Amino acid sequence: MIAWHAKSEITRRERSAHSVSATLADGQTLHANLMIAAEGRGSPTRDEAGIVIAKWDYSHRAIIAGLTHEKSHEQVAWEIFYSAGPFALLPMLDLPDGRHRSALVWTVDEKDAAGTLKLSDRAFLAEVEKRMGDIFGSITSVGPRSSYPLGFHHTAKIVDHRLALVGDAAHGIHPIAGQGLNLGLRDVGALVDVLADGMRLGLEPGDAQLLDKYEKWRGLDSFMVALATDGLTRLFGIPGKTASAIRRFGMAGVQRTPVLKDWFMDEARGVTGDMPELLKA
Ligand SMILES: Cc1cc2nc3c(=O)[nH]c(=O)nc-3n(C[C@H](O)[C@H](O)[C@H](O)COP(=O)(O)OP(=O)(O)OC[C@H]3O[C@@H](n4cnc5c(N)ncnc54)[C@H](O)[C@@H]3O)c2cc1C
Repeated sequence: MIAWHAKSEITRRERSAHSVSATLADGQTLHANLMIAAEGRGSPTRDEAGIVIAKWDYSHRAIIAGLTHEKSHEQVAWEIFYSAGPFALLPMLDLPDGRHRSALVWTVDEKDAAGTLKLSDRAFLAEVEKRMGDIFGSITSVGPRSSYPLGFHHTAKIVDHRLALVGDAAHGIHPIAGQGLNLGLRDVGALVDVLADGMRLGLEPGDAQLLDKYEKWRGLDSFMVALATDGLTRLFGIPGKTASAIRRFGMAGVQRTPVLKDWFMDEARGVTGDMPELLKA
């Protein structure tokens, strides 16, 4: 059974030898066997547990906006690499009136972000069209713009006494390869598998052996993806014609080599490695 306490503020968290508890702002105290921190990048549960975290800032900001456009995206996501950062178009469902929609995630240098956000709709649209060419025909409208600072963080461990971290609470990466959500889903799937197996054997969910198993399963995969993503971000950020020519050569090589291309596509879809049962659809 799931007890759903939406929009509650947690005022106190406790992890004792045999149980955990969370006290809500309305005074209710919830008791359980295991605490899971899934509060995203700024996880207060992780910080309160004193888990060491490595982090740095890319001095990049992602500008997000919804676009409607003339041609269908045919369910294809596009990513165009500029030295300031990637310009990504992610397919969204058509509107009820049939207009085609995509989400724009445009990475700009931090120093250009405020100016880009302040552009008039017309000027913003012109900049967007300049960068995406005729991929989707003409852009018919641009929705409200918002922005996110882009940074990297990785925790030294993803478990503690009766505590497990999942998703961005444990690791935050640059969206250049669109892997953040995949990593989080794999964390959740692995944790569910480990807890279900342990409970079948009579262990309780907060058992240290089970948390250790979860850490071993997910620790290396998320670290490797984080490293690869950080490397890609730096590689694509190197300015100049030579760097650009080398990147083109590499991409063309991947395009011409089916085994490599399949490997990169599987990595991007997050279906490589030891997949949890939940994700083996
Ligand atoms: C610009 C941008 C583009 C991205 N593009 C992609 C992409 O194309 N593909 C991809 O896979 N990933 C992408 N990501 C990454 C992806 O969005 C994250 O990895 C994913 O959302 C992490 O999920 P999460 O549930 O761990 O954290 P979040 O999505 O941050 O969710 C955390 C939740 O916890 C809640 N919360 C926070 N604090 C508290 C509290 N104290 N008490 C209770 N609740 C709390 C928040 O309200 C929120 O609902 C992108 C990220 C950014 C910034």
